[in-house]
Amino acid sequence: MSDEVDVPESHPRYEQLLTRHRIEAGVEKGLTHRQGLIAEGRGEAFDYLVGERTIPSAEEAERAAAAHLLLADHPVLSVNGNVAALVPEEVVELADAVDADLEVNLFNRTDERMQAIADHLREHGAEEVKGLDADGRIPGLDHERATVDADGIADADVVVVPLEDGDRAEALGEMGKIEIVIDLNPMSRSAQVAAVPIVDNVIRAVPNIADHARELRDAPESELRRIIEEFDAEDHLEAAEEAIRSGELGSSIGASKG
Ligand code: ATP
Repeated sequence: MSDEVDVPESHPRYEQLLTRHRIEAGVEKGLTHRQGLIAEGRGEAFDYLVGERTIPSAEEAERAAAAHLLLADHPVLSVNGNVAALVPEEVVELADAVDADLEVNLFNRTDERMQAIADHLREHGAEEVKGLDADGRIPGLDHERATVDADGIADADVVVVPLEDGDRAEALGEMGKIEIVIDLNPMSRSAQVAAVPIVDNVIRAVPNIADHARELRDAPESELRRIIEEFDAEDHLEAAEEAIRSGELGSSIGASKG
């Protein structure tokens, strides 16, 4: 990956430059909608304010997410154009670590983009990619955005929806699913309705959840339940908002200002 962008990994803005490069390449490859560039810009601003690091409460959220995924009967990871561009290999690895399905789920759905993302995930090691059957519905949403697979998200008990739009996150919650949302904006509706909101960059969050899952794989069920019970979504959202508002930036950011 180090040859993806023309800057050394030691550059203080390396991760951000890599992210921009991947989103741009995602648009060029037909994976990411142009609107995804705007979403990325919003995320970048929040990431800057959170110090471009995983804050301690997000680490706890990532551990709770891993516990939920390991206890799930049918976990599904939802993949949109930004996620496919930013962390294709990492979502495939997370799916493997928790035995989850991968489902392509787009806000601006076109057959071409669905196919391009499914192919991209397969190029990064995915065996089965759902989302293309489109034979299920999320009640309460208009046709396009309601479309899911009957044996995928519609059937899931735990869903990971990184960068989900607020309406759909709300509708999925109303279907009784345990929702794990990754969103750098703690005030976004998606984060507010999630059972487990993770206020962290998807680039850090996805591999972190997989690491926790691998570490907890052989833990007894009681331990997984304890981790879930001890996690408080509201406390995490408050801690994240506090980190953003306090303006105490991480050291790499402070060093590179100006
Ligand atoms: P809501 O309705 O939930 O308030 P929205 O639909 O208006 O949100 P968008 O403008 O679509 O939100 O932006 C998507 C969200 O994804 C933003 O909140 C942004 O902070 C977040 N985001 C963007 N890039 C990343 C990333 N790399 N990691 C985590 N979150 C991100």
